[in-house]
Amino acid sequence: MEIENKKWVLKERPQGLVKDSDFELVTETLSEIKKGEILLENMYLSFDPTQRGWLNDAPGYLPPVQIGEVVRSGGMGRVLESKNSEYKVGDLTFGFVGWQTHCLTKPEADDRFRVVPDLLPIPTMLNVMGTTGITAYYGLIELGDPKPGEIVLVSGAAGATGSVVVQIAKLKGCHVIGIAGGKEKCEWLKEVGVDDVIDYKNSNVHEELPKIAKNGIDIYFDNVGGEILETVLNIININARVLLCGGISSGYDATRPPDGPNNLFSLIIKRATMQGFLVLDYLPRSQPALEEIATWVIEGKLQHREDIQEGIENCPQTLNRLFTGENKGKQLLKI
Ligand code: NAP
Repeated sequence: MEIENKKWVLKERPQGLVKDSDFELVTETLSEIKKGEILLENMYLSFDPTQRGWLNDAPGYLPPVQIGEVVRSGGMGRVLESKNSEYKVGDLTFGFVGWQTHCLTKPEADDRFRVVPDLLPIPTMLNVMGTTGITAYYGLIELGDPKPGEIVLVSGAAGATGSVVVQIAKLKGCHVIGIAGGKEKCEWLKEVGVDDVIDYKNSNVHEELPKIAKNGIDIYFDNVGGEILETVLNIININARVLLCGGISSGYDATRPPDGPNNLFSLIIKRATMQGFLVLDYLPRSQPALEEIATWVIEGKLQHREDIQEGIENCPQTLNRLFTGENKGKQLLKI
């Protein structure tokens, strides 16, 4: 075989939003596949805010991408060639395939590689039927334990994760408030059943939230951190659960530490809990969640939308969309 692979490697550590010049688009020829390896033709790449953090030279839950390495990202591809008994030609495969058109790898469990059933469209599999759905499901249901009638607030509510959280909260009989940026996203949230919305880009959350959440907040699913988290802590109810999923308002660019709330004392007064979590811990036992999510999708109870950019040359700009809020739904790139 002789395959031309185009790959983005990290050239220098970005500051703030990434620039094409932080990376280099390299073309290489792949000509040999060794025992235990598979060769994938990458089809879709998943873009997740955490990828920006992996580009910093800072400790995290995974090692930083090193200068000269292919940029790490999840994605799906089809097996073109295999010298690994667990993968056969044509298998649809998920894993850290990276910002490249092909992926020659010896699949390791650490890189999340696994064959996935070829049942639903790939964008759906990378969204609600992938880590996005699993994050929302376990974060809200297992850690939040929502009960009918409780008030659930979600920031980043129109994004990939947030939009699944708000809908599951509605399915559980909760009153749901969503915070998102811009009119279009707020209107879409109303369409999928969110009770109240706040457009944080065009209103003052600090003033609006207490007016809308007159009965307080029982569960806060936090995707953004920073000032909004601090505002929410002022109005949580007794026994509230604050679920720390992400802190994207910090930009994940390591130029400054994430803003911390200065009113943690509120957790004492309200006998509340605040808990961070990572989806990686739930992946090994995600099957029941995926079955329930699939049922909701098939029955039309769970809406999902994917924002699909195209072309390997657009990887850096596609990552930025998550931080400018341009993405409408799960950010993907079709190769
Ligand atoms: P997403 O919500 O689809 O996209 C990111 C969204 O963040 C943007 O669309 C934008 O929405 C919002 N945003 C960007 N900059 C912001 C700022 N300065 N202040 C407030 N909002 C801002 O992405 P996602 O993949 O679903 O991730 C959502 C959050 O979940 C992220 O914080 C991510 O790190 C976290 N996450 C955590 C885990 C875990 O295991 N803990 C797993 C997956 C994701 P607007 O247009 O509304 O501003």
